[in-house]
Amino acid sequence: MTLDIISRAEWGARAPRGRDTVSWSQRTGFMGHYSAASASQSVREIQNFHMDTRGWSDIGYNFLINSITGKVYEGRGWTTVGAHCAGYNTENIGVCIIGKDKAGVQDVSDAARRNFKLLYEEAERRKGGNLVLRGHRDRGSTTCPGDEIYSWLKAGLPIVGGTPTPPKPAPGKPAPGPAVAFPLPDGYYFGPASGGDRSVSGQHQRRFVGKTDRQWLQEFGRQLTRRGWSIGKGHTYLAGAGNDGIYGSEYTALIRAFQKDQSLGVDGRLGKKTWDAAYRNPVG
Ligand SMILES: [Zn+2]
Repeated sequence: MTLDIISRAEWGARAPRGRDTVSWSQRTGFMGHYSAASASQSVREIQNFHMDTRGWSDIGYNFLINSITGKVYEGRGWTTVGAHCAGYNTENIGVCIIGKDKAGVQDVSDAARRNFKLLYEEAERRKGGNLVLRGHRDRGSTTCPGDEIYSWLKAGLPIVGGTPTPPKPAPGKPAPGPAVAFPLPDGYYFGPASGGDRSVSGQHQRRFVGKTDRQWLQEFGRQLTRRGWSIGKGHTYLAGAGNDGIYGSEYTALIRAFQKDQSLGVDGRLGKKTWDAAYRNPVG
């Protein structure tokens, strides 16, 4: 499972009026909050409220997660001091779960829980050490983040039912063209030249199953064109260099967009799963 974080640019954040940063060694906790408002509230609305009504320099939280969709949004980010728990913003990364129904019975989806946990694991990976799970009420006189989320935090974020399989693409037109088998050995993928032997970039003219790696990456670009994607110089994807078969930021963006479209893990690398989706999954 990979975690896709919607960046500030992607959700249309306003620029902060200022920011203070904190080192990972000062980070000791990962603190859960809830917004106690509708799950339909946008991140930008929360930012406007924090900046215009509260008078803060930016949205208060480091990250936000929608309680229904599970989508993760970048707030102040990993190492900017937040404004989510007075007196404890240096030590704690503050994560807000957006939404709670008015009866106080929170409906926090499995997707939101899984992504909260993935975000926590990513934080510990970046720190290179443990972070204590806390609820806002551990450090302030508040009921935040509500009983349901609080007890889940204190239990160590158990995920009921394990990891689900990703949803199948909606039925539509079958994939165009003949299916082409993934040409690289097991565990290899098309990725950056800096990524080691298994990361095949098209830079070094390596050969696999009768074609060069560049030709295979171009073949993938052509297949997405057959699927109706706007690809090539001056088009939506690969607009600069075109479908030249050399993996770089433009192929990364294309592959990430396709993975998102197919409900795959989004990492920008073209491995077997992503390749097969291009040839086998119907066009939505
Ligand atoms: Zn709170």
